[in-house]
Amino acid sequence: MSEHKVLLDVQGLKTYFPVRGGILHKAVGYVHAVEDVSFTIREQETFGLVGESGCGKSTTGRTILRLIEPTAGRILFDDTDLCALGQEEMRLQRRNMQLVFQDPYASLNPRMTVRKLLAEPLLTHFQLTPQELEEQVQWMAAAVGLAPEQLDRYPHQFSGGQRQRISIARALICKPRFVVADEPVSALDVSIQSQILNLLMSLQEELKLSYLFISHDLNVVRHISSRVGVMYLGRIVELGDTEAVYDRPLHPYTQALLSAIPKRDPSEVKERIRLEGDVPSPANPPKGCAFHDRCARCMGICKEQVPAVHEPEPGHTVACHLYD
Ligand code: SF4
Repeated sequence: MSEHKVLLDVQGLKTYFPVRGGILHKAVGYVHAVEDVSFTIREQETFGLVGESGCGKSTTGRTILRLIEPTAGRILFDDTDLCALGQEEMRLQRRNMQLVFQDPYASLNPRMTVRKLLAEPLLTHFQLTPQELEEQVQWMAAAVGLAPEQLDRYPHQFSGGQRQRISIARALICKPRFVVADEPVSALDVSIQSQILNLLMSLQEELKLSYLFISHDLNVVRHISSRVGVMYLGRIVELGDTEAVYDRPLHPYTQALLSAIPKRDPSEVKERIRLEGDVPSPANPPKGCAFHDRCARCMGICKEQVPAVHEPEPGHTVACHLYD
């Protein structure tokens, strides 16, 4: 993977949402949804973001696409600073950057046929003849496994898996270079999940795509990602090659998450590390290491200082005082 150039370079990204109160509806505090997040994604790479619900994964993805404005940080896409772009420049750039949602039904207009749903993004970004338009729609439908006769049907006439195929086709029809896939298989049956994951992987190869793949499901992330970042309360606490993170987790939070996954070989005995308590509120994050209330290895310093990022092995980083 290292031969490909970096396509997306996110540095020090922060996304805060104001908490409003009082008669004047003034900001009385901030939810720190994304806190100092940095990572890169290379061309044709899949980078997985994993963590419990509410940890800031989806907000990170949406901030990168500037569907939510960042509070601070830098987002370089193919060396262009997205934060410096005006609205029209960003609209043009969006053709290269698309989002696949968890719930395709909510994201597909129920009054539009599949043909219209697929044609709409093309009409927004290109000037095509009716014949060119039809060719593009037919090509994309076939690429996601839809039959030509299905193009005149409406979203409610499809199963959940087929609707996700339509949603993927709509995201990819303008041939973007980068896709944020936000829990794209979470709403689907397990048997359908692997079909959609395989479809995403084969389209990645065909269209030379890069993915930011967001999921709470560690098995799903492992299946599709070449590198992975583990998020906790708005921060990436561990990042590295998927194999390294899954085989040699360094952060106590990653270790706890992975200990909860059943082993493929049932004869392998594994001690489950139980996570006590809930994820703290990002509106009132704990001092020091945000994980300290739940960490069995918490030390005095953990309650006082935010841990720095260490790199105990090349390309495998961890934010934890155990590695100071
Ligand atoms: Fe646990 Fe301390 Fe490491 Fe946080 S910094 S994960 S509290 S050992």
